Amino acid sequence: MTDVVVIGAGPADLIAALCAADLGARVALVARTEFGGMMANDGPVPVRTLSQAARLIREARELGRFGVAVSESVLDYRRLLARVREVVDDVRSHVAVRERIDALGVTIHERAGTARFADPHTIVTESGLRLEADKIIICTGGVSRRLPLPGFELTSTHSDAWNLTSVPPSMLVVGGGDTGLQVASIFNAFGTRIQVLEAGPRILPHADDDVAAEVAAAFRASGMVVQENFGAIESFEKTATGVRMHFTKDGRRGSVEATLAVVAVGWVADTAGLSLSAAGVELNQRGFVKVDEYLQTSAPDVFAAGDVIGHLMLVPEAMQDGLVAATNAVRGPIMPLGNRVSPTGSFTDPEYAQVGLTEANARRTQDVVTAVVRFDSTTRTIIDGHKVGFCKLIADRKTSKILGCHVVGERAVDIVQVAAIAIAGGMRVEDLARVPLSFPTYAGILVNAAADAARQFGLTVLWQTLEGATVIASQATGKTKEVA
Ligand SMILES: Cc1cc2nc3c(=O)[nH]c(=O)nc-3n(C[C@H](O)[C@H](O)[C@H](O)COP(=O)(O)OP(=O)(O)OC[C@H]3O[C@@H](n4cnc5c(N)ncnc54)[C@H](O)[C@@H]3O)c2cc1C
Repeated sequence: MTDVVVIGAGPADLIAALCAADLGARVALVARTEFGGMMANDGPVPVRTLSQAARLIREARELGRFGVAVSESVLDYRRLLARVREVVDDVRSHVAVRERIDALGVTIHERAGTARFADPHTIVTESGLRLEADKIIICTGGVSRRLPLPGFELTSTHSDAWNLTSVPPSMLVVGGGDTGLQVASIFNAFGTRIQVLEAGPRILPHADDDVAAEVAAAFRASGMVVQENFGAIESFEKTATGVRMHFTKDGRRGSVEATLAVVAVGWVADTAGLSLSAAGVELNQRGFVKVDEYLQTSAPDVFAAGDVIGHLMLVPEAMQDGLVAATNAVRGPIMPLGNRVSPTGSFTDPEYAQVGLTEANARRTQDVVTAVVRFDSTTRTIIDGHKVGFCKLIADRKTSKILGCHVVGERAVDIVQVAAIAIAGGMRVEDLARVPLSFPTYAGILVNAAADAARQFGLTVLWQTLEGATVIASQATGKTKEVA
């Protein structure tokens, strides 16, 4: 009998298998299809490849401003998809985890079909495999939410991008969250006419208010229609050239149509084929696998990790979950999830990213100061011609520790990684303001924002470049912090 069976082959699964084997367990991993899960095959890797193409197209348009003459770029979508496949294969073949898993003797059952529970210690797969284990870890990820509406089968998801033969002339993107906005931004750069339709009062409902407003404004400025509060969808119907969506708003009916309607209204746990009831595994109210802080499910010998538990649905989170679930499955409940500093962001144009608390959430519980530096006031953004956006730092007035960072603009995601390290290290704004980050860089804007925040704490900024600051304690305000 195997000690641990891991179901799935995405980032949560791979780390769970690796960690359980590293702890000495005999491990088997069962994947419905191929190795890599959503990350390698359908999510970040291929989507990021499309967004890199979108970026190159945008940058090609800028060449004239720098005195470089080229003819207009023309997108060959089939060639781009071939590039996506090359990248996916390349990434898959370089997954270092795979080598380590093999070296540790994990048995890998790829393309085994959907696995389901026969009882809390046994799974069977469509390919006829039957495995018994002391502990089972569910890492089956998630799938795009489907709406029970007439004609919904006429709609598309981001995954349909891989089957298109050309760029569609027009597209409805229903849902203004991270996935919808990435699809919208990419195809906007490819020349598709985009309408983003959001049912709520704003796009990016979980982002800082200013981030949502800035991204919406930038999307509109780039030619997309962004409609908030659009109403409630009634149905979809086929037209001669695509699909029409019917909706109601304030008792009145309306319709919009396009070549494609991409619906991105959330992500649900992929548990449909698992027969969870046979193992006694329960779902929570949101429909994700219910787990405690040790990632143990309602069945004591079954654990779960990654998107299937519905926490922050990101690759690094899934990997951390895999580590926690495997450790507790093998050693007993010794490793709680704990609080993580988790940066999030999207590779749209402009990019947006965040770490820590939004300003509204921070203000709900504590006295805070905020500092905002706009992209049109820093050297590197001016040099590169990327002047749209801002960096906002939020700090606790009592401790001057950084509580949150929100960035819109070029390289926002990378800038926020630096802020995440500062938050994880418990840095105060005056500490960050004194780090002489390289000049001229995008991340340098953080030092500027930190210096602005430090000023609000009564500290005097003696000297400041566009991206560098020296701060001293202000005698006038009686601040005694030793910062210079
Ligand atoms: C468009 C898009 C863009 C994204 N961009 C980013 C990004 O930029 N950065 C980031 O960090 N995250 C991103 N994500 C999220 C990221 O892909 C997921 O958070 C991550 O892949 C979750 O890992 P996981 O191991 O939980 O599940 P998955 O990667 O979904 O893997 C689950 C695996 O389980 C298999 N499986 C399911 N059911 C069964 C079954 N019954 N039997 C056997 N196998 C089964 C599936 O086939 C799959 O291989 C993106 C997602 C999408 C959709």
